[in-house]
Amino acid sequence: MPGENPNPPPPPPSDASPGAAIARQVRARGVSDARVLAALERYDRARFLPPQERGRAHEDAAVPIGLEQTISQPFMVAVMTVELALTGTERVLEIGTGSGYQTAILSELAAEVFTVERHALLSLRVRGVLDGLNRENIHYSIGDGTLGWPEHAPYDRILVTAAAPRLPTKLFAQLVEGGVMVVPIGDQTSQSLTVVRKQRGEPISRSVLPCRFVKLIGDDGWPGAHAAD
Ligand code: SAH
Repeated sequence: MPGENPNPPPPPPSDASPGAAIARQVRARGVSDARVLAALERYDRARFLPPQERGRAHEDAAVPIGLEQTISQPFMVAVMTVELALTGTERVLEIGTGSGYQTAILSELAAEVFTVERHALLSLRVRGVLDGLNRENIHYSIGDGTLGWPEHAPYDRILVTAAAPRLPTKLFAQLVEGGVMVVPIGDQTSQSLTVVRKQRGEPISRSVLPCRFVKLIGDDGWPGAHAAD
């Protein structure tokens, strides 16, 4: 039809879906990737929050999940997921399981998700939530994610959901040639969401937007004052 937009915006989310309000907010902020919006629609963010914080589930903000950690802001979850450019065939390594909300979104859009969390309590809580939602393509590990998960390497995509002081080299080594890593890099108060592509073994980096994440604590991150848990 003459004048018809060849790339029409995706339809607004249906109110019946558990993540409709979140998907609508994220879309209003300019995220137009239909697959990512559909994945957001499928999950009720409240399920990933501790009971006392559930009333804040629909805020487009980071919310405390205990142990001084936070669930990421939905807009940031969406942007990071879009930057990973998942087609459904990828094996993804996620560092910082946290609440498991981002993990759930990744599991909808990738073939296999390997997720590492340094706090055992958080990792175990997420297993409970996601097993209950029948997510079967997620593998969990407890430990220092800056070391990656070498047994299952290499990965097509790596997502780091905590702030790194510099590009974590052991993680980069576990990325396939042509693979993409998304990682917030900067100091402890502000970072730049960075997309790193491995090209002939070298990192080619691009900054996407300013952001603020909790610290990536570990061997190839920030030093931690105490051992986790
Ligand atoms: N994507 C998560 C973000 C949680 S905040 C969500 O939306 O819920 C970041 C998480 O990274 C925290 O749970 C923190 O404990 C974890 N983390 C920090 N350093 C880590 C490391 N070296 N290895 C694994 N997890 C780490």
